Formats: sequence, structure tokens, C-alpha cells
Amino acid sequence: MGDSTTSTTAAGQAPRPQETKKATVAPTRWADLEDEAPEESSASSTSEAKAALELDVENLAIDENKKINKFLDEPEDSNIKAVTSGDTPYTSAFTFEELKLSPELLKGLYVEMKFEKPSKIQAISLPMILNPPFMDLIAQAHNGSGKTTCFTLGMLSRVDPNIKAPQALCICPTRELAIQNLEVLGKMGKYTGITSECAIPMDSTNHIPINKRPPVTAQVVIGTPGTIKKWMSAKKLSVIHVKILVFDEADHMLAEDGFKDDSLRIMRDIERMSSHCQVLLFSATFNETVKNFVSKIVKRDHNQLFVKKEELSLESVKQYKVNVPDELSKVMVIKERIFEFGERLGQTIIFVRTRNSASTLHKSLVELGYDVTTIQGALKQEDRDKIVKEFKDGLTQVLISTDLLARGFDQQQVNLVINYDLPVKHDNRTEPDCEVYLHRIGRAGRFGRKGAVFNLLCGDMDQMIMSKIENHFGTKVAEVHDWRNEEDFKAALKAAGLL
Ligand code: AMP
Repeated sequence: MGDSTTSTTAAGQAPRPQETKKATVAPTRWADLEDEAPEESSASSTSEAKAALELDVENLAIDENKKINKFLDEPEDSNIKAVTSGDTPYTSAFTFEELKLSPELLKGLYVEMKFEKPSKIQAISLPMILNPPFMDLIAQAHNGSGKTTCFTLGMLSRVDPNIKAPQALCICPTRELAIQNLEVLGKMGKYTGITSECAIPMDSTNHIPINKRPPVTAQVVIGTPGTIKKWMSAKKLSVIHVKILVFDEADHMLAEDGFKDDSLRIMRDIERMSSHCQVLLFSATFNETVKNFVSKIVKRDHNQLFVKKEELSLESVKQYKVNVPDELSKVMVIKERIFEFGERLGQTIIFVRTRNSASTLHKSLVELGYDVTTIQGALKQEDRDKIVKEFKDGLTQVLISTDLLARGFDQQQVNLVINYDLPVKHDNRTEPDCEVYLHRIGRAGRFGRKGAVFNLLCGDMDQMIMSKIENHFGTKVAEVHDWRNEEDFKAALKAAGLL
């Protein structure tokens, strides 16, 4: 983190000021944050996706003999189902060289990112993304399996350095994810000279009215949908040259209770202004409703990659449930049974359901002498940025978070995730939110690393929700038998490979 890059505006530096944001109201939606208010729905597409050809997935498998990076087990992607459209043959790439990337990009991958070879999702999707006719792609990839690289390379390799105008746009659901993606792009593209800018809401102290700002000249723009839309409406963000449009966490970006209206509006506006813009939709989860909807809005022939939901839980991350009698015992389990093992566990994220729950737990742990930080959507933007930076820099070990960080947050040192509260649907607290569950557990075990998840269950309702989660994924989550017994926790952490 924090590498100085070409002209990147990243977290550590002051990003471009943005409109004043009203005080955030109580959480009603996923991720507890209302970054920007959605606008009216735009007309939905009527054209259907054309029939697609099945790709021979067997031929997409990575040759194990050619595996260089032996100390990491890649996330199990063997069940990726690829469906390609048209008659373009794609061969998966064993090396980055095969992708015919520029020397500058290769240097970025090897020197800055320290990657050795493409992960499986990269091997399969990059040939589809990087080669003419630059077809649209809907891709599902396991948490932590390297999807950011897929769309970042896609964006960087399509930019014409001679055109000093936006040519690639990436839209993310939270400012944290936008900043993180911008940093990856800056690092990977360090030797390319490609410029980039973050389009996220700014705090009031840095506020400059939109009409007083110069037009965007950065070649890649990464941001949240409300701000991108605002910049476009104010004619400060030209999309005439945009050749590639990426939606990160695409299912949420296109979900009814997510950013669907803003996302569609942006997509339509770009389609109107730019002759052919490749659209990439990436996420670890796509439920059937969103999947059907996405296939309809991506009108042209497009390629698809999907993973069966049963295959989505990360094998490298061991999941546990712990039954406790009351709230206080949850705190005791965290303190006396889990944190007891100290630094050996690496960094930890504790997920809670509400902002209140976040501050109560924060208080309890601080009172017990723990140095924890807490992030939630009601905090000021600059405080959110600071807390994330401190955690990413390793200055803090334990982070309490609402679902604000459930998706996409990438910190390789996170070995442990604790679900202090189980994720439930906002409109029905008796139903689990299985997608959020999957995203939360994916914060541990990045890129095949070992990890553990402890689900703290208190009462019948929690147990019922947990068993619904197990049924949904067709897995049995192991139980830590006695919450008072240190040996049980030790055994669990050992089995997860953390001790
Ligand atoms: P992502 O799923 O894109 O958030 O990536 C998860 C983690 O895997 C990130 O920390 C990446 O830096 C890392 N990663 C992605 N691709 C590779 C690769 N080809 N080799 C090694 N690490 C990778």
C-alpha cells in the first residue's frame, strides 16, 4: 500500500474534493452505508442475450507441473463454468507473457505486485478480456482469487497513452473498495505512465463546487456510482473515449436494493456516447435474479464464467460455530478463547450487524484492555480512510466492522474473521444473507491462504439462521463444543492451520 504511482490519487494522498455529503442516516441497506442517493430508474433493456457456446472447460485447467508458486494453494476454481459467445477461440494463459501485455505492464506485475503467474480465474478470463473483439464478460470468481487483476489489466491494457481523457471506468459499491482498486491499478500500472483518479464523495473540508472543477483528464477513473454519475451530469467527466467499463461487486451494483438505477444510467449514457465500450461485470456472488437481469442488460454477445454456489466457500478457510449463552459470553470468547493466542493469529476482522453493536463491542473490548478500531458508515469519510489505512499498514490488529467491509476488502494478513452477529437480510431478520456471509468469510484466506471463521451463536434464532446458511451452501460447519474450553479453541485453530 501507499506506493507512489504515476498520477494516481490514492488513499494516503488527498483525493479530489467532492460535494458535501449530508450526515449519514441510520442503516437501511447493505453495507450500512448510503454513500450516495440513488436516482430514478432508467428504462431497462429489452434485447435478450444471444445463445452462447459452451467452452471446453477441461482445456482451461492449469497444468500443475507448470505451477511455480508452490507455497500457496490457489482457491479451488476447478468448477468454473465458462460459456463463450461467438466463434472466438480462447486458450487459457499459463504465463503473463502469453497475454501479450506491454513490457511496462509485465514489469508492474512482477516487480510491483510480485506475481509469478496468473491465477486460475486470471488464466481463464484474461484472454477473453484482452483479445479482440473485446467481448463483454460476466464473471464470478471466488473471494480472494485474483479478480481485481483481471479487470485492472483489462483497463490498463486498453488505454491509449496519447489520449489524455478518461478511457476506462470502474464502478465500486464503497469508497473503501474504490480507493483499494485505485491503489492496485496505480501499483500495477506504475511503469505505464497511465493516469488515474478516484471519484468518491469527499468530506466537507475539501469541498469544491463541481462547476469550479476542471474536467477530468485522468485516463482511468475508479469510483462510486453517485459521484461518477454526478461528474458525468455536470459534464466534467467525458465518456466519449471510454472503451471499457467495469463493475466490481457487480451483483450488488445491479441489485434492486443496491445501486441498480445509478449503474444502469451510467451504462446507458456511456453506450450512447461511446461507439463500443466493453463491459466487465465481476463478483464472487450472483444470485439467480441478478444473473438473469445481468444477462439481459448486457445486450451484445458476451462471455460468462460461473461457479456453482456449493463450490464457493473457500476450502482454505475453516468455519466454526460456537454456541454461547449470552452477549457477555461472546465478548469473553473473543477475549479469553481467541485473542489469548495473540499475534500468532495475524489480523482479525469482527463483523457486527449494526452501528450500535459496533460501538458497544468496541467499548467492551477497549475496557478489557484491547486495542481495537471500528469502522462503520456513520463515521466521517476521513476517519474511515484513516482506520482502513492503519489496518492495512498493520498498525492495528483487530478491526470491528459492519458490512461496510464485507465485500472486496483485501488484506492478506487477515487470518481470522469473527461473526459477532450473523448476517441477516435487512427486511427479514429471520433470514440469513448468505451472500454477505460468503463475502465476509472471504476476508480471510486471501489467495488461498489459511484462515478461520468463528460464528458466535446466541439463542435459537442464531442457530436457525446458521443452519439455513449451512443448508444453502450444502456444508456442515464444525462446532466448537464448549465455549469455556480453551483446548477446544486451540484444536480448532490448529485444524485451520493457524497454530
Ligand atoms: P483479489 O481477489 O483480486 O482481491 O486478489 C486477492 C489477493 O490475491 C490480492 O492480495 C492479490 O494481490 C493476490 N493475487 C492476485 N493475483 C495473484 C497472482 N497471480 N499471484 C499472486 N497473488 C495474486
